[in-house]
Amino acid sequence: AHPSHPSHRGAAGLDHAGLPPVVRAGLVPTLSGDWVDYANLDHAASTPAFERVAQAVESATRTYSSVHRGTGWLSRVTSAHYEAARDEVARFVGAREDDVVVFTRGTTDSVNLLARALPRNTTVIVFNSEHHATLLPWPKRGTVRLPVPGSARDAEVLLESALRDLPAGTARRPRQALVVLTAASNVTGEFWPVESLTAIARRHGARVLLDAAQSAAHRPIDLAALDVDWVAFSGHKLHAPFGTGVLAGRSDWLDAAAPYLAGGGATAQVTAEATRWATGAARHEAGSPNVLGAVALAAACATIREHRAAIDAHEAALTTALRAGLRAIDGVQTYSLFGEDTVRGPVVTFTVDGLDSQLVAAALSAEHGIGVRAGKFCAHILVDTLLEEGSDEHDSAVRVSAGLASTPEHVARLVAAVTALAADGP
Ligand code: PLP
Repeated sequence: AHPSHPSHRGAAGLDHAGLPPVVRAGLVPTLSGDWVDYANLDHAASTPAFERVAQAVESATRTYSSVHRGTGWLSRVTSAHYEAARDEVARFVGAREDDVVVFTRGTTDSVNLLARALPRNTTVIVFNSEHHATLLPWPKRGTVRLPVPGSARDAEVLLESALRDLPAGTARRPRQALVVLTAASNVTGEFWPVESLTAIARRHGARVLLDAAQSAAHRPIDLAALDVDWVAFSGHKLHAPFGTGVLAGRSDWLDAAAPYLAGGGATAQVTAEATRWATGAARHEAGSPNVLGAVALAAACATIREHRAAIDAHEAALTTALRAGLRAIDGVQTYSLFGEDTVRGPVVTFTVDGLDSQLVAAALSAEHGIGVRAGKFCAHILVDTLLEEGSDEHDSAVRVSAGLASTPEHVARLVAAVTALAADGP
């Protein structure tokens, strides 16, 4: 490792700023294994793993065996780690006593799981501004798409009226609705008004799924306090590795549905004539589980819970510097759904007048050592809508997303680089 790699820094699991050590030295490895000075401002895509996560995975790797299948000591230890990870995640999301925590491969997988478990006669209500992972898995028939809202109040009015217009249902087939909401936009970083939208859903007897992929690293999730039915999120946006995620919440729909995958571990009893499926998380976790992923995810959840105040302070400073810096540049447009005063995380999507967004992102990387993302961020309808409202011709945008591995110097470097690009023009 490079001498200034963060594994050489800090004490007692904290770095100098009191933050859990991630890759905070501003160094990233090249393909040949050298460490180079590079500002990774792409946290909304994926986040570097916490040191504690890497250590948890390393230690679990040395001692694992099969989960829930063996009577041997290793198998029992591994099963205990897997279930302890589930308990930590339940704590992280403020799960109610009878909620279930299903380990999945990520948010996309979690939403697809719930879509498969949707009872008949359920109308899904979803805003067109959603990430494709939460927009697309629902059946075409029986899904109501709401337009991209222009303000928080607009979102409330649209939801209220969609719920009011639902067909009444009958005694035999009662009306049922699921409202799908995102906690934080992956495009604008804005936090959605989840409390007021959930209250509206509740007034109409509807259930709520919260996509917390973008919020989980930044804001506490509290299923019980929010009165939300399910939450989904991904490990790789939470300083844990890829291939791990969660669907947590009510068990009734999940227990009544066919298993997501059929196979070992999801069964209560199998005879030549019939299969009786398990209930609870096991029903949807057939096959040998991703124990290392679960352990990693739990370590990330625990780290975030324990350092919430320091994380909040760090990110609030970055958010302010990022937004103020970019918005002050002539020829730069930043985009917002709900208006400039909305509470948001350290994410800004912008365009530069007269410059192609892909070229801006490429120049930031090649000339300034800054990693961002350009495109439509798997939220095509939202980005198209935002760009139509802008004053020029863009068909894609640049997204900057800071986080725990970002420093004030990274943000300053970005602002200076965009200032130079905007000044040079096309
Ligand atoms: N929802 C939002 C808001 C996201 O930003 C993402 C990922 O970018 C997803 C869902 C999908 O997450 P994953 O690709 O981990 O399944």
